[in-house]
Order: sequence, then structure tokens, then C-alpha cells
Amino acid sequence: MTHLFGPVNSRRLGLSLGVDLIPPKTCTFDCIYCEVGRTTHLTLERRPFAVEAIIREIREYFQNPPATSDYITLAGSGEPTLNAGIGEIITAVKDITTIPVAVLTNGTLLYQSEVRQELACADVVLPSLDAVSEETFRRINRPAPGLTLEMVLAGLKAFRKEYRGQMWLEVMLLKGINDTDAELAALKREIAAIAPDKVQLNTAVRPVVENYARALNRREMEAIAAYLGQGAEIIASFDRPHRAAAAAAKDRVVIDMLSRRPMTARDLAEALGLPLPQVQKRLHRLQAAGRVSRNLYEHQGFYRSEPKAE
Ligand code: SF4
Repeated sequence: MTHLFGPVNSRRLGLSLGVDLIPPKTCTFDCIYCEVGRTTHLTLERRPFAVEAIIREIREYFQNPPATSDYITLAGSGEPTLNAGIGEIITAVKDITTIPVAVLTNGTLLYQSEVRQELACADVVLPSLDAVSEETFRRINRPAPGLTLEMVLAGLKAFRKEYRGQMWLEVMLLKGINDTDAELAALKREIAAIAPDKVQLNTAVRPVVENYARALNRREMEAIAAYLGQGAEIIASFDRPHRAAAAAAKDRVVIDMLSRRPMTARDLAEALGLPLPQVQKRLHRLQAAGRVSRNLYEHQGFYRSEPKAE
């Protein structure tokens, strides 16, 4: 199994070499907007997962890296801090390369001091926070038994106090759920108390688990960003201009990316830094060969990889 993917062109991190730390779909949450799918293993229990194999793969990759990266991003098809080896992996990456390390996390385990310590050497930690009332938290995030919003907020605040790196907080806004005046006023207060370096606003522009998790439009997002202040930026991609860059789109890379999450041809073109027609041509060929499938969602075609039939 390969745990590395990319480098992909990420809106938040530039050229990002992804490291998948957790098997699908293991998470502390079962979010209604998750693009990976339903959580099949909802847990708070941390266990080491393929730590040596992951470090070996990173070491081998950097013996002869095929492309440059702006960040090495620890993520996964679920919550990466559930991998009890995450601290060891960050330490190993720091030994192998000077490329900064980013961690994409839902932040739920930051109430545990050992998790905070394990992330201490990362350069950027990108936790999420979607709700600041227990009821909305349960409605959106559907947490593992035993996890409360109070624990999550305490963890975020404790981490901010101890952590010396950059903390970029992502908020997923959902129409009619956490975009009410009362929710936004409370969110603004909590963000001020957490004091992240950046606030990044997202909405459900990709396929979601529950169809009632609906996106806000650009105008609504801009109004919320202005209300929240503190330099809140919108990271949801309403239109996705293609960027010409140098990554080579091989079938294996495309299929690997589509096995992690469904993407439009535009998403792929942007991630790979390739012209859209070139990516569309490749997808049509892969579709004809039965390697990827295409489904419509909110009037957009999303591709997924299909298990290889041999
Ligand atoms: S925290 Fe992330 S991976 Fe886990 S269910 Fe929510 S969106 Fe999916």
C-alpha cells in the first residue's frame, strides 16, 4: 500500500505532498459533509498505524524526489491524529527533509496533552471547527461517544497557548445549519478566544454524505467573512481556474487521487496543474477502460476510481 500521494496543487498549501496516516474511514467524527464517505470506524482510540512503512516510504521518496513540494501534508481518509505514531512520523520527516510539515486535523484530540506534544514540531496545523453549540456540533459532526464540544474547544485553546507554529482554523459553513445569526455571533466569540493565525471558510462544494448539508453561495460566504473579520478568507472553490504547472499526470496518480475522494475534471486539472482538456481526455479514456466512473452531483460530474478488474 502506498501512503504518499501527489504532490497536488492545494488551495491552502500550494504544492503539497500528501501522506495518508489512517485507513479509510477511521475518524472521531462522522460529519454530514464528509467527502470521503460515512465513517465506518468511529472512535477516540489512538493506535499506531503502519508507522514504519510510512517513514520508509517517505525516506525512499526523498532519495530521488520526482517533484518539488511546498509542504508535506499529514492527512488521511479520516482523522490523522488517531495514528499514535504521528509524532514519530513528524520527527522522521524533519530528519529527512527541510520541507515544512502541515497537519490537516479535525482538532478533536487536542484535548490530550500527548497529541499536542506530538504536533509541536509541525510547521502548520490546520484544525477545523464547525460549530460552537453542542446541538449544532452533534448535528454536523456526529462525534464519537464521549466526545463533547467543550473538550474540542478546550483542546484548541490549550494547543494555541502551547504551539509555536502556524494554526489555520477551517470552518465549514452549511446553509441553514451553522449560518444563523446566533451561531455566527457565538463562532466569532470562540474564534477570538482561540486566536488562530488564519481563519479559512469553506462550504459544501463537493459531494457530501447527507444531501441536506448544502453549500452557501459566494455572496453569502463573503458576507460571513466580512462579519467574522480577523482576516477570514474563503477557501471554497466556486470556480476553479486551471493553473499551468509542471506536475505530470499519469494514470496511476489520477486513479490514486480519485480513490481518496471524488473530484471533477476541473479539480483534477487544478490539482495536477494541467490544462483541463488534457485531463478530460485522460478521464474519458480511463472511464472507457472502466478504471473510473462519473456521477452527477449538483449538476457537476464527479469522478471516482473503480477497483481494477483483472
Ligand atoms: S473530520 Fe474530516 S474525515 Fe472525519 S468525518 Fe469529518 S470531514 Fe470526514
